Amino acid sequence: MTTSCSEQQRVACAVGGIYTALAIEKVLPIMHCGPGCQGNAAGVLGRTNGGLSGITYPESIIPSTNFCEQDTIFGASDRLHRLVEKSLEYYKSDMFILVDGCTAEIVGDDIEEVAGHFKQSPIPVLYATLPGFKGNNLWGHSQILHAIIDQYLKPPDMIRDKQVNVWGIVPYYDSLWIPTLEELEKLLFTLGLEPNIIYGRGKGIMAINRIPQAAFNLVLAPWTDLDVAKKLEAKFGTPYLHYPCLPIGPTETTRFIRTITEYAGLDQVHAENYIKQEEGRYYFYVKNGIKTFTGGTQNPKRFFINSSAAQAVSLTRFLVNDWGFIPKKIFIIDDVKPEYQEGITKELRSLEYEGKDDFDIVFTNDGGLCDQEIKKENFEFHKICLFGTTWDQLTAKNNQLPFVPVSAPYGEYLIANKTYFSFNGALNLVRDLYNDMTKKILGSGIVVRLETE
Ligand code: SF4
Repeated sequence: MTTSCSEQQRVACAVGGIYTALAIEKVLPIMHCGPGCQGNAAGVLGRTNGGLSGITYPESIIPSTNFCEQDTIFGASDRLHRLVEKSLEYYKSDMFILVDGCTAEIVGDDIEEVAGHFKQSPIPVLYATLPGFKGNNLWGHSQILHAIIDQYLKPPDMIRDKQVNVWGIVPYYDSLWIPTLEELEKLLFTLGLEPNIIYGRGKGIMAINRIPQAAFNLVLAPWTDLDVAKKLEAKFGTPYLHYPCLPIGPTETTRFIRTITEYAGLDQVHAENYIKQEEGRYYFYVKNGIKTFTGGTQNPKRFFINSSAAQAVSLTRFLVNDWGFIPKKIFIIDDVKPEYQEGITKELRSLEYEGKDDFDIVFTNDGGLCDQEIKKENFEFHKICLFGTTWDQLTAKNNQLPFVPVSAPYGEYLIANKTYFSFNGALNLVRDLYNDMTKKILGSGIVVRLETE
């Protein structure tokens, strides 16, 4: 009999949904699960993910009942109740969200009932069940947003005709989420919209309150948050625009700007002027410096991706449409629901490239498949690039492959204000790739091993 097990986690369990709460200023999860559950999620989304931590609350101060052995017999709802009372007393928060994990769910502790005792509290107390046996952190993320919509949001008394709520970028799971959202916000303002983003610095409860007032919702991802947009449409009648990826580089960013300009009835001349200006800047940098490093015939042009669907679609479109790279194989590792897989495949093959049907796309929850595939390759005379998580860095190092982390866990890299979004972000991506390429493949055309084994 053979057994298999998961290693090198590239998704967290559903409890990872607490990071969506932690991404919203002054929103605090209260945990009703084992003492190690949060640590497990942090292993993918927190400390080893560019050193990220909660916007207001670091993980170390999240209140938890620390569900233990005897609680699996007697339950611990009373302790949770007392913990909520004390949290209301001691934490300065705008919203609390009770979450549970596997053990509390299995023994039948009812966090909805506990939250119900605090209905009259001036600070909202919501609940979201996050047992790891039901899904991964993307499912947990969705549970948190649905809790906010179902248990907190009220019908609007007015609609703001330029307001757009932004969805699709999953905080922390998209490791570059903060700078990306900042840049996206600037772009939407520039085009004449009023972006409403609930995550990050200076947003919080005010941004949550504004959700129902939006003229439309924007989903910038192949599949995440489509359920949220659909729920907001059903509950408040808010229409949504689904754009299948976060744009990187001139081709996709231009396409996105034109799409949203037309959808929202914005000033087209203004949008075209902006595109012209940003495109000009992008190509200025490409011509001045970047092309010196990128033109070498020994530089690899083929690539593997081992990442979330969101990163895979954005990257593939940029690398193929703007940079002339060719996909070798793409592994999608975030356990995409079967009903979304066909659409994602279509988006991945929607390329300005004749061989767009010539590469394989694999949906899997086994992040190690990519490594196995790479081990079959002979890299003596040709190299490929690899985009993935910090785990894939080991594969890249062993084979001296140019590598860029693009998906959680991002590894021990300083993110600061780095994003790959839009025209400017694409330059960051090219810089990261070619700096690693320069380290591993020198300009002479000779492949050099940096380390002896
Ligand atoms: S799978 Fe269950 S027990 Fe394990 S970390 Fe997640 S919630 Fe906790």
